[in-house]
Amino acid sequence: MPSSASRSILWFRRDLRLSDNPALFAAAGDGSGTVVPLYVVDPTEWDGLGAPQRAYRRASLESLSDRIGGLYVLHGDPVEVVPHLASLLDSTVYASADFTPYGISRDAAVAELTELRVTGSPYAVSPGRIFTKDGSPYRVFTPYYKAWLEHGWKEPVIAPNVRWHVPTGGDGLPTAQTAAGFVCPEAGEVKAHELWRAYTEDDLAAYADVRDLPGADRTSRMSIPLSNGEIHPRTLLADLGPDDDAYRRQLAFREFYADVLFHRGWSAWDYYDSSFAKMRYDEPGVEFDAWRMGRTGFPIVDAGMRQLLHEGWMHNRVRMIVASFLVKDLHIEWQHGAQHFLQHLIDADLASNQHSWQWVAGCGTDAAPYFRVFNPISQGKKFDPNGDYLRRHIPELASLGPDEIHEPWRLEEPPSGYPKPLLDHAVERLESLERYGEIRSALR
Ligand code: FAD
Repeated sequence: MPSSASRSILWFRRDLRLSDNPALFAAAGDGSGTVVPLYVVDPTEWDGLGAPQRAYRRASLESLSDRIGGLYVLHGDPVEVVPHLASLLDSTVYASADFTPYGISRDAAVAELTELRVTGSPYAVSPGRIFTKDGSPYRVFTPYYKAWLEHGWKEPVIAPNVRWHVPTGGDGLPTAQTAAGFVCPEAGEVKAHELWRAYTEDDLAAYADVRDLPGADRTSRMSIPLSNGEIHPRTLLADLGPDDDAYRRQLAFREFYADVLFHRGWSAWDYYDSSFAKMRYDEPGVEFDAWRMGRTGFPIVDAGMRQLLHEGWMHNRVRMIVASFLVKDLHIEWQHGAQHFLQHLIDADLASNQHSWQWVAGCGTDAAPYFRVFNPISQGKKFDPNGDYLRRHIPELASLGPDEIHEPWRLEEPPSGYPKPLLDHAVERLESLERYGEIRSALR
């Protein structure tokens, strides 16, 4: 705890909030000292963010700065600028834990040069806390989920009284440009709480029934504030009742993937199941471009990819469908798709994104059987039966009814401007199974 009249530094990273922020509590101590709010624009991290994520992060930082009455912003390598500031101000640095491979090595390097006290994390149960009976990390979600529930978490804490001190100068917030037409959602802690409150009142009770229907669009969209730490998952969990298991379970998926990444940092870009690295894949070419632009001719795939480009977000069911299409219809390695997602999702999260991709590709945790290949036409019909989601994102199909919209190429006069299907799904499914058969038989 900081002693009386001391000064501490709170280094904000992906925890852009004041309430339920254990690092802020630790930095504020008994309230007699002052806290310097610091954000470091680290080129290694910032330049790797996609434009939508940068725009949202900047908006969130502006909102945080307004709430505090300023934010001291430095640009540079945190390993240099954080210890330098700490030494200038003769202060201890407080931060919330970052469990990504880069965050772990950066914080270890900073801690060698200055006192860095890491308290709390972006998770209800931090990575590395729960293990199987034989002491190894969990590899399968359901037993992890049981252990996670048993472990439990603390209640959220309200914001402490803080005497902020914002030094003059600094480098200011970075600029963030987005593609024309992209509308950045309103950011910040206050907005996150507002959205969550509205969600619990209007939609949470129906979550289990509607979560798979992209046309209904009634999931919480909390992934965006969660990925910037504008709201803590404990705050969400505290509002859930006994009937909200379906929602609690999804939050646990986020924690599970963070745990997987923590123990196996290499699985961010390498195959969790290394046998899949031996599979035959195709190089990304014009078909990959068609997938990225939402012009494959398969409406549910195109609607999802266009939603991603325009909104920086995509419904979970559709993320699974488009990912399956890339890996199993186009035979392209999951890493290409994962990278495209990271560049366009506002909620881009290394742990959830990479491991969800690996799950769809059949090479991740909980191995979804590879031979279960999503059919993009029947998936569209099943989960968007009226075609509401398709019409919302594909203007060329806006005038088609539920019976026509899933297979527009069958119409006597297909809608102009919308491409014909890029491939025959039945043929590519067999091709995909053949390639899978090759790696399976090679293992025997
Ligand atoms: P809700 O359905 O309201 O769920 C509530 C919360 O639970 C979400 O905000 C999220 O934090 C968590 N959650 C839900 N489903 C999952 C899941 N399958 N895995 C992990 N956490 C989950 N999520 C990200 O946050 N960042 C990503 O980069 C990301 N990439 C993905 C890539 C693929 C290929 C797939 C299939 C899924 C990905 N997800 C990712 C998980 C999921 O799609 C999103 O979390 C979800 O769509 C966000 O919308 P929501 O907040 O309305 O979710």
